[in-house]
Order: sequence, then structure tokens, then C-alpha cells
Amino acid sequence: MSRIVYVNGEYLPEENATISIFDRGFLFADGVYEVTSVIDGKILAFDGHVERLQRSLRELQMDTPCTMEELEAIHRELIVRNNLVEGLIYLQVTRGAADRDFAFPVGVKPSLVLFTQAKNILNNPVVENGIKVISIPDIRWHRRDIKTVQLLAPSLGKMAAKAAGADDAWLVEDGFVTEGTSNNVYIVKKDGTIVTRNLSTDILHGITRAAVLKCANEAQMKIEERPFTIAEAQDAAEAFFTSASAFACSVVEIDGVKIGNGTPGETAKRLREIYLIETMKTAK
Ligand code: PMP
Repeated sequence: MSRIVYVNGEYLPEENATISIFDRGFLFADGVYEVTSVIDGKILAFDGHVERLQRSLRELQMDTPCTMEELEAIHRELIVRNNLVEGLIYLQVTRGAADRDFAFPVGVKPSLVLFTQAKNILNNPVVENGIKVISIPDIRWHRRDIKTVQLLAPSLGKMAAKAAGADDAWLVEDGFVTEGTSNNVYIVKKDGTIVTRNLSTDILHGITRAAVLKCANEAQMKIEERPFTIAEAQDAAEAFFTSASAFACSVVEIDGVKIGNGTPGETAKRLREIYLIETMKTAK
């Protein structure tokens, strides 16, 4: 069945939705995006995602396509029109369409596209088994705190992981792990301390990261925000990752080395549970 998607003010069947070939998102990856999860027809952590979207737009001197209230109304309308109970909503803003020129065009209206993806996100087989990752060099640009649509490097990373029989790749720069191809990453030391890279322009400031660390803090877990190496991760008691669509999931193998006993750890499981309870409280 065809979805109803949103494109620049219109709700259309997906096969009728179009964007100009001159759109700078297409020509220059000149765009930003957000992905939110939907459970029971409600959007998780909406405010956090909207705040980050505004920050991404600001950092790139890009105009806002509409008010944040309108944005919420569009999300809601797509949930209704597509009978979305569980899944994802993808949102993309680009600088808009203009004749090809590296310099930003003046007075161009940004493009806004949203679509839904019905998906089972609660009963994810990955939670039961955990994932295997490989490490690869982080070849992305140096403003990873801006959620741009330049996703070729992460895409190549996922392909390298697949080719190696793994599920994802952890990116390494100057000897330290930055993040996963599409998630923030953590290790749990043998004394129970959670270690995750500190916020900077080196990583995306995950909305799930912020919420999970808040949950961990409230549950009296010890947290260290600092870079760590692959060797330290391989020697850890647990490893896991977070993202808006996966919540918290275990990593059970890194570069062929089993983490702990090679099965999903208790810290990740517990944080996933607490995160879901807490985040559902504010779901809209
Ligand atoms: N890092 C990267 C590179 C990502 O692409 C994502 C998810 N889009 C994340 C971290 C996790 O962010 P969030 O929890 O906001 O989904």
C-alpha cells in the first residue's frame, strides 16, 4: 500500500511526491534531517529532536521551513493518514532549489519532506542477541554535531561491516572511538562505570544519549564522559549503542573479540527498560 508523505506543503501518495533536480539536498547534500520513533501512535522525545533540528539549521545558516508547532502538526497528520502505530518518522529540510552554485542562493525557500516507516521497533531481534561490530577509520567531515544528510561515509561503513559478517561499524579517529555509523556508543567497565565519548563536534549529540545518561544518572550508575579505545572496549564487561530507533542495544563482539561472555549485558537491558518507561511518559 502506498504511503501518504509530506512534501513542501502537500500530503501526497508517495508515488506522486517529487523534489526538484536542482534541490541543494540532491546536488550538495545541503540538508539536515531528524528521525523520531512512534509507539502506540505517539512520538518519542519530540521536543529534543526539534531542538536539535533548529540547532542544525542555525549552524548551517539555513532558514526554518515552518514553525515548530506546524512541524508537530505535520508529524501528527502523517501518523493519522498512515495509521501509524509503531515505526519511524523521517524529516528532512534542505536549503531548497536554485541553479547550481557553491555559494548559498539568496531568498530561496527551504524544502521540507517527511515520511513514515511502519516498523516493529519494540520487538527488535537485535535486543535478544546483541550485534557484532567491526572498527573502521572515521572518514567523515568534522562537524558531526550537525545532523546533515551527508551519509555516504556511514553507508560505506555499514557495507564494510556487512562484508565482514558484522552488523555495524564503530568509527575510530586518532586511536579513539567516535561513534557508530548511526548511533552513539558506550562501554561498561568491570566496576560498572559507563563510559561514553564526551560531546564535541566529533560526534552527533544523540537525543537518546542524553535521555539514557539521565536515566543512568538517576539510577545511581557511574558515568565517565571521555574517549575510549577499541582495546578498552574489548576488555570491558559490556558494550552497547543508543539511537532514536534502536533505544539501547548491546554490542557483543568487536573486531572478532567477544565482549564479556558474548551475550547482551544487564546494564544495556536495564537502561533500555528505564529509557522506554521514561520516554513514553513525555511521548506526544
Ligand atoms: N550518531 C550518529 C552518527 C547518528 O546517525 C545517530 C542517529 N541518527 C546517533 C548518533 C543517535 O542519535 P539519536 O539518539 O538522536 O537518534
